Amino acid sequence: MSDCQQPPIEIAGAGPAGLAAALAVSTAGRNACVYERRGEVGSRFHGDFQGLENWTTQMDVLDEISALGITLDFEHTPFYEVLGFDPDGVPHRFRSQKPLFYLVHRGSEVGSLDLALKRQAIAAGVELRFNKLVRHLPHGGVVTEGPHRADVIAAGYLFETDMADGAYAAISDLLAPKGYAYLLVHAGRGTLATCLFDDFHHEHQYLERTLEFFNDKLGVRMQNPRRFGGSGNFSLPQRAHKGNVLYAGEAAGFQDPLFGFGIRWALLSGSLAGKALATGQPERYQRDWRQRLHTFQQTAATNRWFYNRLGNRGYRGLMQRYQNDTDIREWLYRAYKPRLWKRTWYHLAANDRRPLLTSLENCDCTWCRCAKRP
Ligand SMILES: Cc1cc2nc3c(=O)[nH]c(=O)nc-3n(C[C@H](O)[C@H](O)[C@H](O)COP(=O)(O)OP(=O)(O)OC[C@H]3O[C@@H](n4cnc5c(N)ncnc54)[C@H](O)[C@@H]3O)c2cc1C
Repeated sequence: MSDCQQPPIEIAGAGPAGLAAALAVSTAGRNACVYERRGEVGSRFHGDFQGLENWTTQMDVLDEISALGITLDFEHTPFYEVLGFDPDGVPHRFRSQKPLFYLVHRGSEVGSLDLALKRQAIAAGVELRFNKLVRHLPHGGVVTEGPHRADVIAAGYLFETDMADGAYAAISDLLAPKGYAYLLVHAGRGTLATCLFDDFHHEHQYLERTLEFFNDKLGVRMQNPRRFGGSGNFSLPQRAHKGNVLYAGEAAGFQDPLFGFGIRWALLSGSLAGKALATGQPERYQRDWRQRLHTFQQTAATNRWFYNRLGNRGYRGLMQRYQNDTDIREWLYRAYKPRLWKRTWYHLAANDRRPLLTSLENCDCTWCRCAKRP
């Protein structure tokens, strides 16, 4: 029997997926109880800037989120341009007509996505229980506990600055093996990080090179720098449920395997899971997430398969080809658009010596990307 008000739907984890699930439950007229192992929402993050991607659909991500019943009362700033540096340090400007992404900040501070979702959940009557680690949901529910291991890690600095607003990226295996380094500046605050998909054990070295690189190119001015970091996992489950326990967000492995964007997929999958349980049709979740996310994730995984093989020469060629005259949002939209050949490739890549998407079921290694290396 649950220790929340009856009859609640229980949710483990108060990240975007868990809180979106709770809001969907509440909209469907049921009670929701969210357990969070930490003392506050967003405690996994540190006030860092993250991007809410706006390229996987023609529909604007804010419209999609609003349609889930989520109010846009968190800070979100549209960005239309990124200055990208290739492995030789040559800058390339990438622009889009519509917002490429919305800058949001994560953590427990005023204006963060996490705090806004918490406020909305409380207003909707959701019960939130902090400092409560949940290991099992014997009566069913939604598991939204975030990542279980690292397929990608980020390490960086947060700081205050007098630099002008801007979004910058650098693609080079010397700065971020098989990933990218980034610098985001907005309203006097900055986030600089390296995002690695390989060679995790040298994260410190890559971070210092990233700092040196951006300093050289842009003259990074950091006041009160603080280190931060985190990890993410992606996998493509056959099923995102075990009986009446539904898995959503990163706990299910739903995250873009190409670049590690997970917020949008967490909100979507959480909301789908909450709605399915609240309407008494848990089996509907399998159909719904597959319809919305499955082919996107397969396509993004295939993209990663190719990206893994590009190396510095390939990154350089790619950036030169698509700078300036291409609308980068449209280009990314096409790159992420599900296609039959990419799905077929995904199945071929699944048999690769070093599997693309590790399986949640068979892996208990936190650093599995490293463990498989010689
Ligand atoms: C450094 C970094 C930068 C990122 N940048 C971006 C970006 O720019 N754009 C983007 O889209 N995505 C980005 N991501 C990924 C994105 O943050 C995640 O995909 C997203 O937060 C996943 O949401 P979630 O709700 O599934 O999990 P989480 O946000 O991880 O939330 C899970 C919650 O569950 C709690 N919890 C865990 N275990 C339990 C338990 N047993 N019982 C109770 N509570 C539990 C945790 O404390 C946490 O609060 C980034 C990730 C990192 C680490």
